[in-house]
Amino acid sequence: MRSAPSVLAIFAHPDDAELSCFGTLAALAAAGSEVHVLTLTTGARSVSPLAADRVREATAAAALVGVTLIVEDFADGRVETVGETFTVVERHLRELRPDVVVTHYSSPHFGDDHQDHQVTGRVATTLAKRMSFVRLVLHAEPPVVVSGFTPNLFVNVTETVEKKLAAIAQYQSEAAKPYMREEAVLARGRFWAMQAKFYDPEEGNYYESFQLVKARMTNPGFLLGLTGGHDRGVRRDRSA
Ligand SMILES: [Zn+2]
Repeated sequence: MRSAPSVLAIFAHPDDAELSCFGTLAALAAAGSEVHVLTLTTGARSVSPLAADRVREATAAAALVGVTLIVEDFADGRVETVGETFTVVERHLRELRPDVVVTHYSSPHFGDDHQDHQVTGRVATTLAKRMSFVRLVLHAEPPVVVSGFTPNLFVNVTETVEKKLAAIAQYQSEAAKPYMREEAVLARGRFWAMQAKFYDPEEGNYYESFQLVKARMTNPGFLLGLTGGHDRGVRRDRSA
């Protein structure tokens, strides 16, 4: 029997998973979980002139944190809630049989977020919720505000936040976007630490946030995980 849960993160574009949940995925990979990131598009229609590099950048980012990248070639900006999207996502789910699925939060309000995020989140959630082998379905935080995202699960990523920053820094093609900046990523991590009531301005700790969609526990021992570990921060050397 596996000791560490397997994880499939399902996102629309290269860089979505990095921004939303790479601290958590890096921690799981370091703890022995098999982690796959499925990206439905190559991100080739980004406004960046270097958009063609995004798959190479995503590959480097995945390697940094020890996760396996799978890239599909749906047209960027045109992911649709139709049979083919369901077919492809379902095929990966059935092949990998993950314990945990992480995907986009999908706003109920059309126009709130990138259309690919909304569709990808909806398709992945619809499929993962009804697959009995999936024990946990989580919606990851959107890097920019999307109405209705109300996180109820907070993960301490203080020890992996540097890896997350290094992964995001691989995206030279996206470097001009404000939410890709190191200070923006760290500010979000601190904000969620504050929401989780573990903000420590002296130590500096960072959290990622999720919205719990489905949790199926066969053993109440999972509650022991709530008291394990610590919330100690790690001082970042700002002079480096
Ligand atoms: Zn995206």
